[in-house]
Amino acid sequence: EASLYIVATPIGNLDDITLRAIETLKKADIIAAEDTRHSQRLMNHLGVTARLMALHEHNEREKSQALIDKVKEGKSIALVSDAGTPLISDPGYFLVKLAREQGVNVVPIPGVSAVVTALSVSGLPSDRFVFEGFLPAKQGAKAKRLEVFLYESRTVIFYESPHRILDTLKVMIDVYGADRYLVVARELTKTFETIKGGSLSDLYEWAAADANQQKGEFVLLLEGVADSPEASVADQDKMLALLMSEMP
Ligand code: SAM
Repeated sequence: EASLYIVATPIGNLDDITLRAIETLKKADIIAAEDTRHSQRLMNHLGVTARLMALHEHNEREKSQALIDKVKEGKSIALVSDAGTPLISDPGYFLVKLAREQGVNVVPIPGVSAVVTALSVSGLPSDRFVFEGFLPAKQGAKAKRLEVFLYESRTVIFYESPHRILDTLKVMIDVYGADRYLVVARELTKTFETIKGGSLSDLYEWAAADANQQKGEFVLLLEGVADSPEASVADQDKMLALLMSEMP
């Protein structure tokens, strides 16, 4: 059946791609890619010859219907992003939403994502977690966003752009205090893979002292707080409401 395939690709190490992903890309009529030049290198490496088409945040709305029409004509379309799983802090949401609304078959070809890769080795509670994606770049907006998680009891996971790590650690210290525990997962599956946990102030000193640790791609995993005062206030309110409702 002609379908729209959402295909995960590696986040660094080129061997981190599934057999099914390779097979799907080889059979695809068109591969929609965030950056065609970037993805062409992977396709060459895999021996995939399908035509690549650009689908990025600036043209996704405009191009999605044309891609969906191709599937309706019987073509197989694969969506890839520059790294990892499409739609996860990457383009594709609009395309998939539209495809599903129009009854087009959407097939996941799962694989790597930096968020789950980082969580799996962080040593932080992994039964419940919050994925927050990218923080705003500006300090004020960043601090405001971080405040949302002041009393969060679940592990909170952020993506970080290269060269922002020191700034983000500094704002985190302002918002959470120097002692909150964080894990930095840098350059996962690549040569300089580094996974380091510590207090916010220790990590700040460590990164500030070594410019190499400020480069590359990062996932930041914030430990949740043991007892959430906000949650317990909410619990007390609920309990009170329940008691009140039972009163004669
Ligand atoms: N779609 C991707 C996924 O499934 O993880 C994420 C794309 S997002 C535009 C890029 C961000 O993901 C980076 O800034 C970084 O936060 C994270 N990331 C991607 N590859 C990574 C890696 N090898 N090591 C650490 N973080 C990575």
